[in-house]
Amino acid sequence: MAHHEQSTATFPEHIRKKRNGEQLSAGEIRDFIQGVKDKTIQESQIGAMLMAIWLQGMVAEETLALTKEMMMSGEVMSWPAEWEGLMVDKHSTGGVGDKISLVLAPALAACGCKVPMISGRGLAHTGGTLDKLESIPGFNVYQSVQQLHRILEEVGCCIVGQTDNLVPADKVMYALRDVTSTVDSLPLITGSIISKNGPKSLSALVLDVKFGNAALYKDLGSAKLLAQSMVTVGNSLGIRTGAVLSRMNCPIGRCVGNTLEVMESLECLKGRGPNDILELVTSLGGLLLWMIGRAGSLEEGKKVISTTLQNGAALEKFQNMMIGQGVASQIAASLCSTNADYYSILRQAHYQTELETQGHGTVLDIDGMVIAQVLHRLGAGRSKAGDPVNHSVGAELLVSLGHKVEKGQPWLRVHYETPALSAEQRLSLQGALTLGPVDLLHTQPLVAEIILP
Ligand code: URA
Repeated sequence: MAHHEQSTATFPEHIRKKRNGEQLSAGEIRDFIQGVKDKTIQESQIGAMLMAIWLQGMVAEETLALTKEMMMSGEVMSWPAEWEGLMVDKHSTGGVGDKISLVLAPALAACGCKVPMISGRGLAHTGGTLDKLESIPGFNVYQSVQQLHRILEEVGCCIVGQTDNLVPADKVMYALRDVTSTVDSLPLITGSIISKNGPKSLSALVLDVKFGNAALYKDLGSAKLLAQSMVTVGNSLGIRTGAVLSRMNCPIGRCVGNTLEVMESLECLKGRGPNDILELVTSLGGLLLWMIGRAGSLEEGKKVISTTLQNGAALEKFQNMMIGQGVASQIAASLCSTNADYYSILRQAHYQTELETQGHGTVLDIDGMVIAQVLHRLGAGRSKAGDPVNHSVGAELLVSLGHKVEKGQPWLRVHYETPALSAEQRLSLQGALTLGPVDLLHTQPLVAEIILP
């Protein structure tokens, strides 16, 4: 206790130091994280420290100390010896239409890996994997550590929410970052993401780092700095960590919104997914397989992952994961059948409206951020933690980059309930589509760069 009283007393000093741009010692960082965890530091002080870190940044040594202390604020998971070398995971910095986890976790399990995925909920414009899965009737994202073990043993993958004991310091800090405009800080993101993966005792971790209009970082340069920071800290903590840098302007795939994204993920698992999802899933999965020595090269790893999507092996894992996490086996089987009638099980929004193109030409851009913001206001996302979401709200893109369209052609189908889609929101959505002459089309590869451990 004496230690905590001392931390509180000296804490304004620590804030002042960081505020003035000085380097914090490992001990001072330990005081901070201990205080956050024990609630011996006031929220205002945590907020001030977060802002000081946002403004002044941290040197590599401080970021490593921060991540280490955050990681040690909670329990560390341990796994059976025979899983050694097989424990893998992916963590994304968040994107619009990002349903990669739903496809990648079962694909990796189909390759013999163990995937203890711990995901989050949507905040601001980004969707959350847990919200997506909860649009499946019966899916329970809260599993005890014992149940998690059982599902990993029997199926090989699970996607669950953060337990109270996993990195409690991040829970507090993440919520405060959200309300103090300190989310987009390189050391704070590094600490948040790597600390949550450290306690899972992984053999390899791959980071899906996005850049572009609809991502946290807008350009490749800044996203690369973040990726390098996370890769360095991850590897320093003994987790073999790599990263894939990918473009995030247009939504990933054709669907945005919880229920629609589950349907699109199932289509991918049935070998009928759009190419961009396939490219990301195989790149991230292929890198992991190479990192744990299950593939001789990245290319070989990509092929192995792709095969699990074509031959139904990943789909079977997803079906069993659903059952393992509480979905009735009949429902899981229906969703996974070849010609599934998804809306006989998943709830469809009451209203669908198609927006038509206002001119003709080639699709040059689709602004994922604009679409996400409108859907958010229609109830697909939440404004503060704990708000309910409407799983059925979403949008389907009916065109993609490079498509040649005529005037009056439907390009976006919006699914909504209450509130209704307003005239102003229609106008915003129309602004998300850029048409022009084909020679202005700059298609760039989705995956810009891969950072190896
Ligand atoms: N995802 C996280 O878990 N933490 C961050 O800080 C950003 C994205």
